Amino acid sequence: MTNTNNRNEITRRKFMGLAGGAIGMATLASMGIAGWAANKTDIDLKSLKYIEEETDILVIGGGMAGLFAAVKGHDAGAKTVMISKGRLGSSGQTPFAKGIFAYDPNTAKVSIDEFTATVSRSALGSNNSVYTKQMAEHSFARVQELREWGFFDSALYNKSFSKPINERKIALLERIVITSLIKEQGKIVGAAGFSLDDEKVYIFNAKSVILCTGAGGFKPNGFPICDLTHDGTIMAYNIGAKVTGKEWNDGHLGQATNAADCFNGWHNMFERKPSVNGIEVHHDLGVDLNYVAYTNGNPVQMSPPGAGANKKTSGGPFTPDEFNRSGQENRKEGPMNGPEDGKRPPRGEKSGEGGGPPGMGGVSVGGSSAGMAIHKSEGLVPINDKCESNIPGLYAAGDALGSHMSGGIYTQIGSSLAGSAVQGAIAGEAAAEYSANISTHVISKGKIQDIKEKILAPLHREAGYSPAWVTQTLQGIMIPNFVLYVKKENMLKAALAYVEELRDHHVPMLRAADMHELRLAHETVNMITTAEMKLKASLMRKESRCSHYRMDYPEMDNENWQAWINIFKGDDGSMQFEKQPFGSWPKPNSI
Ligand SMILES: Cc1cc2nc3c(=O)[nH]c(=O)nc-3n(C[C@H](O)[C@H](O)[C@H](O)COP(=O)(O)OP(=O)(O)OC[C@H]3O[C@@H](n4cnc5c(N)ncnc54)[C@H](O)[C@@H]3O)c2cc1C
Repeated sequence: MTNTNNRNEITRRKFMGLAGGAIGMATLASMGIAGWAANKTDIDLKSLKYIEEETDILVIGGGMAGLFAAVKGHDAGAKTVMISKGRLGSSGQTPFAKGIFAYDPNTAKVSIDEFTATVSRSALGSNNSVYTKQMAEHSFARVQELREWGFFDSALYNKSFSKPINERKIALLERIVITSLIKEQGKIVGAAGFSLDDEKVYIFNAKSVILCTGAGGFKPNGFPICDLTHDGTIMAYNIGAKVTGKEWNDGHLGQATNAADCFNGWHNMFERKPSVNGIEVHHDLGVDLNYVAYTNGNPVQMSPPGAGANKKTSGGPFTPDEFNRSGQENRKEGPMNGPEDGKRPPRGEKSGEGGGPPGMGGVSVGGSSAGMAIHKSEGLVPINDKCESNIPGLYAAGDALGSHMSGGIYTQIGSSLAGSAVQGAIAGEAAAEYSANISTHVISKGKIQDIKEKILAPLHREAGYSPAWVTQTLQGIMIPNFVLYVKKENMLKAALAYVEELRDHHVPMLRAADMHELRLAHETVNMITTAEMKLKASLMRKESRCSHYRMDYPEMDNENWQAWINIFKGDDGSMQFEKQPFGSWPKPNSI
């Protein structure tokens, strides 16, 4: 006889089990199981072509730094090849910048030494005065060259950038993603990557390499430059280069109504031709607005970094009195300085409505450029004033060089573009001189094979995590303003635990179905390594200075922290940290 109660019981249990399973699956899916799938590779891996090229100088990056590195390297007599992930003059941050600084000795009211000293005061000592001064000294000459090439005649830079490259017949390869630098016998010997448009893998044999790969972010909504993911810095770190500046923060805000519009509408600047800026030293943060949003809640009025009118809360990042623009309604205008009449658009104004320029109204949210530091403060550690890294033959310029040209703060509008031009030229000449004195090294077959396997590994996986999903997970961990901008130990450690999980568990299982997903797979790894660097450096700097703000250490600590933080890979592969006192070069024994 069947016991109906029993049957009901079993039925109910079964039901509960099934329902529980379904709920469990739904929960797991929302936790990210959807990120894992079979890899439906749609390219024939056996038909991939391998191209090998040889050059004296390999310039990686087609922005302002790359332009001058290639031109000056070539003019100094070196065979030069230029590679870019995007297109020359139309990729990286360069196309967005419309103000370039030039120190004109005929009209300047202060000497270069006075200018450098003012920048150092604004940067609270965190700048490298040698690079600040160098930028001012050479800026005028670079601007003159740009003028000759037609830079100031158009809002778009591709034509003026192509002119000197074509005239010199410098080999230019666009839409090639470099993923690995090659080091043998203790020096740089080349680089490798792949084409986005053809199924080709490139191996470059080079006597010297100049990284002009720009900076990066975590591909946040508001940052229009999704191809910047700190590739150069991480490639160099992987072969033993020292990296610096990861705790500083770019603090540009985006707007909630259209997050992707944050830079877009700034005073219609992208439709404007570039112009030259004179001397105007500020202490422009942006991170202070994240602090206000954190303390008071949103909305915070959208504005360029350092807009003091937003600072309605006590505490938060420190601004020296000399540079405090709080409450100043009428400021001198530069392309990044906001509306022409010097007034901010009314609080909470919607995009495109009323007096504010399009893109500057609406509810503002932090993190539009999340993952990026102040221009020129993060990147490879220079061992001298020639943009040289600690790896012989490896140079970096522009946003890829941690030159600390302005320190952990924005000091001079237009100096970022000028700095990239000046440093690119210096690196090009230095690399040419270095290349003239060494012979070509033949990269070993074993090394080439090893690198090919590493580059293509995500294409070979039968199943794995989607790089897009892993990137989204990383964004969720890193972008909140209470992690990246308003820092405190427990949150930094919590975020670090997640990031380490992505590093150890997800990175080895990333999949890619085609060359575009392969690019994202490599970029994802670079962003995860960058996140680890940012969190660990932020934990280490137990003070607040410039754009690094610790809620648990709100004061500046001049006794212990007049120092930059350098990051390098230890012999056991772990991430190592060291202090380098402000105003010094790395010690020879630590190079
Ligand atoms: C919205 C906005 C407005 C700005 N306004 C100003 C301004 O008015 N004045 C000013 O001075 N500065 C301004 N800046 C900053 C300035 O644009 C940058 O500091 C400067 O352009 C950096 O130049 P760069 O050549 O060093 O790098 P980028 O211009 O960023 O170029 C990097 C290049 O490297 C390439 N690349 C990256 N990774 C790889 C890879 N793996 N393989 C191959 N190629 C790779 C990219 O495709 C790109 O071509 C602004 C920045 C932004 C975002």
